[in-house]
Order: sequence, then C-alpha cells, then structure tokens
Amino acid sequence: MKRVIIASNNAHKVDEIRNALDFPGWEFFTLREAGIESDPVEDGDGFEANARIKAEAARAAAGGDCAVLADDSGIEVDALGGAPGVYSSRYAGEDGNDAANNEKLFRELADVPDEQRTGRFVCTLVFIDEDGTETVARGTVEGHIGHELRGENGFGYDPLFLPDEFGGEVTFAEVPQERKSAISHRGNALRLLKEMLQSAV
Ligand code: IMP
Repeated sequence: MKRVIIASNNAHKVDEIRNALDFPGWEFFTLREAGIESDPVEDGDGFEANARIKAEAARAAAGGDCAVLADDSGIEVDALGGAPGVYSSRYAGEDGNDAANNEKLFRELADVPDEQRTGRFVCTLVFIDEDGTETVARGTVEGHIGHELRGENGFGYDPLFLPDEFGGEVTFAEVPQERKSAISHRGNALRLLKEMLQSAV
C-alpha cells in the first residue's frame, strides 16, 4: 500500500482525486483522516506557489517523509483582469463563503455584456513523493459567467460557470460530477498528473 495524504478537507476535491488517480495499491487520506492539522497561509504569487505551500506544510506536519498531493484552484475572469484568481475562496472577504463570493462576482460584472464575460477555472496540482520528488500539473477549462445561479451540484462558482464545451448553456452545477470531471480544470490537471506519474508507478 502506498499512502498519499491529500492536503485538503474539501470533499468534492477529494472525491475527484480518488476517482482519477486509481493506481493499484494507492490509498488516499485527507488531512482529517490522517489526523493532521495543517492550514498554512496561502500567500504565494499564483496557484502553483500556493499548492506547493499546502503540499509542503502537510508533508512537514505528517513527519516529512510521506507522499502528499495538494491542489490550488480558482476562477479567472477576463473582464476583471483575472480576478478573483488566487483569491477565489475569499473573494467577498470570508474564506469559503460561496454565496457571498458568487454575489460579489455578479455585482462586479453587472455592466459587462455577455461576450466579455469570459473566464476559466484553473487548477494546479503539486505532488511530492516520499523521496521528495515533485511533479506539477496544471489544468484549465474555458467558459462564460452567467447571470444567475443554476443547479444544485458541485461547489463554489459552479452554479454561475457555463463551460464552452457544454455549448455555453449549462452550468457545472447542473451536471453530475462525472460529466464535470470529464472536462473540468481539476479533471484535466489530474489526467495530466496521472500520465506524468504513470512511468513512476
Ligand atoms: P482553494 O481551496 O484554495 O484551491 O480555493 C479554491 C476556490 O476556487 C474555491 O473555494 C472555489 O471558490 C473556487 N473553485 C475552485 N475549483 C472550483 C470548482 O471546481 N468549482 C467551483 N469553484 C471552484
């Protein structure tokens, strides 16, 4: 068995990671499941830097010699110069308040016409193996910001994001997890990471 600690307690992310990295003999543990407390300040200058901060903090908290996987992700809106970006989870002030974040994004885009409401989700994964070898994978998904929240699935900005690959008509929150994962930023980053790690497994 190979134990891998996922530097997150977000159930949505953890499910997606477990399903994607289905290497025989690999077993994933969230921070909570591993009995580890790690909540570092994410003050890096981008998604990769923040994912590395989370990965290294979890690894140190776990004793320094285990495999860890961290993800940092967010939404970039072109009309807002790439905001909220790395501040996605605390865009409206309080960390993880999805309703307030969505409301703020609608407010900021109130006067922005449809054709300029373009953006993308970005996910960067940092995997550090037992021996300290680091593998980095980045994934994106392009789309538009809608005008209303639609759908009950997913989390965060899913109910207002209309991926181009769904024809710009359906939000990420209106489809089952598997359909989202097939095209999502995290799904794409995980598929790339799987490919990169394949040779090492
Ligand atoms: P992180 O947990 O520090 O990576 O922050 C990611 C934030 O970006 C989340 O709190 C969400 O607001 C947003 N986000 C990232 N991935 C997704 C996604 O797949 N759907 C919706 N929102 C996402």
